[in-house]
Parts: sequence; structure tokens; C-alpha cells
Amino acid sequence: MKFTDLPSDVVDRILISISDFQTLSASLRTSKRDIYDIFQARPKSIVQIIAYNITGPTLAQALRVASMQRLPEFLFTSSQDIHNRVADEAHAIEKLLTRDNIEALIQNANVVSKLEDVFSQRYKDRKSAKSTLSCAESERFHRATYRIWFLILLQERVPAHEARDEILKVAEDLNHAELLEMDRVRVFFQELYSWSHVAEFEQLSTLRFDARPDQVLQAFEEFNTLPFEEYRQDDAPAHINDALNDVWCKRESDDKRVEQRDKAILDSVIGANDICHRCLVVKGIQLWGASNWDLLRGYISNEIFILFPGYLRNSLVEIQPFKERIRERDDDLEPTLSFSRLLEELFDVDAEADEDWDKTQWYCIDCLRTFLKHRLWRLLLQWKLQEPNYQPKRDCWYGYDCRTQTHRLMHAQRLNHLCVPTRGDPAPFDND
Ligand SMILES: [Zn+2]
Ligand SMILES: [Zn+2]
Repeated sequence: MKFTDLPSDVVDRILISISDFQTLSASLRTSKRDIYDIFQARPKSIVQIIAYNITGPTLAQALRVASMQRLPEFLFTSSQDIHNRVADEAHAIEKLLTRDNIEALIQNANVVSKLEDVFSQRYKDRKSAKSTLSCAESERFHRATYRIWFLILLQERVPAHEARDEILKVAEDLNHAELLEMDRVRVFFQELYSWSHVAEFEQLSTLRFDARPDQVLQAFEEFNTLPFEEYRQDDAPAHINDALNDVWCKRESDDKRVEQRDKAILDSVIGANDICHRCLVVKGIQLWGASNWDLLRGYISNEIFILFPGYLRNSLVEIQPFKERIRERDDDLEPTLSFSRLLEELFDVDAEADEDWDKTQWYCIDCLRTFLKHRLWRLLLQWKLQEPNYQPKRDCWYGYDCRTQTHRLMHAQRLNHLCVPTRGDPAPFDND
């Protein structure tokens, strides 16, 4: 039987199960007569159902973001002017569901669901790169993300002297749970802000900003801080940050905030009682293994160079190739060496005398630091031995603990320092 031979109620069912508008347009094109007629019988409700399939129960919040994006910045003389064009949440579906908003709806839903994947892996289920949030958890995450997004767009469009009060008005209307949800997502965005700085080996500047979800995602995906450029000035507005703080302080004492906020989105954490394979301490979501090694880039890049033993970290020659390799990007600006690959190679390093490290296990960040201290220099040596025109050098007696490698270039170049010392005292800052 052909698609077009199906009874009309079945075609109607198929149309409303479509989850994006491109597919809907394609289906309508396949058979001008039959399918199009069924669609035309109730176009508005079919579009509404498909929109719902894209955004889930946060359609109203998503529509407000899409409509706000279509309003130009710096053009409005009063906030009332904006409110007249963008309906409130209660009326958003009925007033804002137009074809003009659809493309933005799809793009934004894509951003929010990618952010949800990251949030899920970092706080819900470290073993899955795709979100495993329950429907209720996912709805809270999406609602809060769209609301923050909306407020930032509002802040960019209302006249500057009205911005603070406008945002405060919205924050005051939120109930306790909604306030906490937004607070949790805002803190998550700040974490990704910090993550992208560390991933780019940048000094972390003071955190005072309200960045849009699409900018936060872009910074995370590109491992850089460029999307935050416009927030770098000291006078960048942070009204959302301030408004949430103000409303919170009026209603509650601050000491409960962190604890309540941590539970604002998630009802449960998968593997919350899991232990570190080495120190046997319960670390739960704060454990690292093959499925989340890539996320380590934004947590340890800025300290990785000091995890070389002895004076290697200040060596005039040995560390440079590692720095170059770890920072190198390809033509698409992707790092050529992913953290998954780096950790994989580190676990595979031939290190007979070293303790047993198992790449199928999960370790806490402190144990992982010890691991890196034991393995990084050995991996660097391995890379060196694999170079096509490698010239073997004699080992320095003082090995990685040699101080001379930090101030005499000739000595540093002539001898190998990627080796265990056979003489001398260990460097004073090494206690592992
Ligand atoms: Zn541990
Ligand atoms: Zn030496």
C-alpha cells in the first residue's frame, strides 16, 4: 500500500508524530492532493502538535525566546512596547505560534538539548554522553534555560535604564522552585564559562556575566572563550545574576541556597555511591573514566604542565613538545589530540615499575593527578622515541630532578631528562 492510499485519520496520526518542520514540509510536498488536504483541514493544531514534539512541554517558554530573537536590539523606547509584541507565558502558544518562529524554535531546541546532554553527563549520569534526565528533570532544565535566555534577550532590548527593574519584576514572579531551577542552570553556565577558559589554557577572569545559552554552548563546543568577548568589559550588565540574588535574599537565608539549588533540577544521580577504584572513597558523579575523559580538558588543562615530576615542568627543552601537541588544532580548529585519546595513551604507556592503573575503572580527580604524575613524562618519552629521526641521548644522572635543565640550555639539550634520577635529592615540591 502506498502512503497516499492510507485512510485520512492514519495520515493525520502520521503528520502529528513528525518531530520537525522540514519533515512536515517534505511530507506535504510528496502528495499535493491527499496529505495536503488532510493538513489543511486543521493546519494550526497540526503545527502546534509538531511544535510540541520539538520543544516538549516548554513550548510556551521556547516560543517567547524565538519571538524575542526576531525583535531588533536597541530600538525600543519602552519595555511596554516589547511586552505588546511578545505575549506572556500564559498566552504564548495561542499568540506566538507562527511559521516565522518555527526555524528559530528548531535551532534553539537543538542548543538546549545539547546543553542538557552536557549537564546530564556532568551531574546525572557520567557514563552517558546523551542525556538520561527523566521527563520531569528535562522539563525543569529546559524551562529554566529558556527563561534565562528570554531574560538575556529582554535585557538586550529594553532601554538600559529600565533593564534592572524589568528583570527584577520577572524574578519576583517566580515561585521558589522556579527560582532555584534558574539559579541551578545559571551556575551550570558559569561552570561551562570556566570550563572553556581552562580548556583554552586561559587565565580565568572574574565571573560577572549573563551569557546566552547559545554562546555558552558555542564556547564549550569550540573550546574557547570568544563567545564571551562582549561580556569582558567591567560594566557588562549582570541584571539576571543580581535579580536572582536580590529575590533570594529577600525570601530565604543564603545558607540553604547551595544545597537546595543542587537538587533543583535532578531528583536522583546515577551511581551516586560509586567509589574511586584506587582510594575507595565514595565520589559518585565526581569520578572519571573512559566515557567522560573528554570533559577533563576543561578541568585540568591549566595544571597539566605542573604534573610533570621534579624540575621537568621548568625544563628548557623537554616540555615544549607536549605543550605544542596538546594545544595544536586542526584546520577546523578542533584539538588534534582529544583528551580521550591522551588518557587512552597514558593508560597504555609501558610502565613496568608503576602501580596498576586500569583504564576500564573509575578514578577520582586526586588519584588521577597521581596517575598523571606517574605517566605523563613516560608518555612524552614514548612520543620522543617514536619520532622518525630520533637521536638517542645519554641520561642525565639527576634525571627529572636535575635543576641544571632549567637554566642551562646546552645541558638541557645534550642530555635526556625524561628518566628516573640515579643521584641527588628529589625536588622539594615533589611529595608523591
Ligand atoms: Zn581516588
Ligand atoms: Zn641534567
